[in-house]
Amino acid sequence: MSIPDVGGAAPLRVAVVGGGISGLAVAHALLRRARAAGRALDLRLYEAGDRLGGKISTERQDGWVTEGGPDSFLLAKPAALDLCRELGLGDRLIPTNAAARTVYVLSGGCLKRLPGGLRLTAPTAWGPFLRSDLISWPGKLRMALDLVLPARNVAGDESIGAFVRRRLGQEALAKLADPMMAGIYMGDPEQLSLRATFPQLAEMEQQHGSVIRGLRRGARDARRRAAAAPGGGPLAGSLFFSLRGGSGELVDALAKAIGSEIIHLRQAVQAVDPITVAGEVQSDRIGYRLRLADGGEWLADRLILAGSAPASASLLAPWAPDIAAGIGAIPHASSALVNLGYDASAFDRPLDGYGYVVAAGEPHPIRACSWTSTKLDGRAPAGKVLLRAFFGGVGFEAETRLPDEELVARAQAAWSLLLGLHGKPELVRVSRWPGGNPQVAPGHQALVARLVAGLPEGLSLLGAAFHGVGVPDCVRAAEACAAAILPEQKA
Ligand SMILES: Cc1cc2nc3c(=O)[nH]c(=O)nc-3n(C[C@H](O)[C@H](O)[C@H](O)COP(=O)(O)OP(=O)(O)OC[C@H]3O[C@@H](n4cnc5c(N)ncnc54)[C@H](O)[C@@H]3O)c2cc1C
Repeated sequence: MSIPDVGGAAPLRVAVVGGGISGLAVAHALLRRARAAGRALDLRLYEAGDRLGGKISTERQDGWVTEGGPDSFLLAKPAALDLCRELGLGDRLIPTNAAARTVYVLSGGCLKRLPGGLRLTAPTAWGPFLRSDLISWPGKLRMALDLVLPARNVAGDESIGAFVRRRLGQEALAKLADPMMAGIYMGDPEQLSLRATFPQLAEMEQQHGSVIRGLRRGARDARRRAAAAPGGGPLAGSLFFSLRGGSGELVDALAKAIGSEIIHLRQAVQAVDPITVAGEVQSDRIGYRLRLADGGEWLADRLILAGSAPASASLLAPWAPDIAAGIGAIPHASSALVNLGYDASAFDRPLDGYGYVVAAGEPHPIRACSWTSTKLDGRAPAGKVLLRAFFGGVGFEAETRLPDEELVARAQAAWSLLLGLHGKPELVRVSRWPGGNPQVAPGHQALVARLVAGLPEGLSLLGAAFHGVGVPDCVRAAEACAAAILPEQKA
């Protein structure tokens, strides 16, 4: 599809490879910018699969809303929220359930509440922390040492594991940081970069001399701003939001706004060749010839690679081997996610929270478990409950290759012991993400900066492996990419 130029100039041809949130968000932002500037744009988005959304994969059936990937988005990073509102989804936004904010940690065979006021592995309120039975007294004292330990100026990056161990101690690492990093990254804190995951922790150490002091100050400021929190209105006070009909509503709204004439489904980009485009007015410049699954070709002035990092690397390998090798250096873990729906009476224990994470070293067949129908409204029919079991991640990859029945059997066995489950699931959905979880190792930001600086003219890289793994990060990076391609014209 082309947007005609008000000045009659030739349209800028932009190809987007990948129809996940990164590709959709950049296509949408480009269209908005082109319309606003009256700039001619010929935009095509190619998606290899037969549906859009990539890892956002929502299914709705008989009152169940299951998510094979993301189920909620962080409000502190407002890009996804802003996009939802821009797409007219304002009245579809829902917060996570304020009445059941408890998160449990499986430790010593029991579910123990994560103390209230805990932020990013450290307490911001002393009362709940001191009363908590999750961390032992020696462990609590060790965490409190953070208040007096001198700040260390670590040159460059370090792992989040090393940081938490030196500031807060081994027990905080095993029971707080490790489950948190497994939940977000399916990763191992010893192998994840502090600066690329929680740079604010490093800043707090430098600014306040202590993580706990920095977090307490931040929490005080956040409470002051609570009324005007990024979500505002019904989202105020919530850390995450979702959409009434699931994350897929964002994908559907983007697809509608972009238009079917721009989106080419079942059209894998099989190869890309840089070519020299003869300039009519300016000097020659680089363009890209795309070779498509149906045997067709398209010539683009700008190319945005928004598939997974390995997919982008394989398109670049034949003619930009150094960049492909750099991308290949970003490790990826695999995960599998099982949605299981039951009659509520099948559980003896109340599902009175968002679910549980698992302390390091705890023998348990599941990495984390969401009590989805407690966390978010409208996920299960009346009288039913929906749970999500996470398998895999760094160190546990073999789990992701188990047959569906084995994954379900492991979840059933775990929950019969832990939650008093005595029924069979009425709904089962298994989603697998081989190599789907990028791992940001120490030095990740420097690696990405080098990659970006070395990109040939007219080429952009998007996706969770480069600019942050959350959906809000992907949307923010997509907006920035569109702004670089079509900057606002100064009046
Ligand atoms: C199990 C799981 C749970 C998650 N939970 C959350 C959460 O709760 N909140 C959150 O914010 N984030 C979450 N994430 C992270 C988030 O979902 C992803 O980082 C984000 O969706 C990635 O989007 P993307 O568009 O960059 O990539 P993808 O979603 O992977 O999309 C890439 C697309 O490109 C296509 N493609 C690849 N190669 C080609 C080619 N050559 N030609 C054409 N098309 C191609 C693929 O088919 C795919 O559709 C989760 C991730 C996983 C795996």
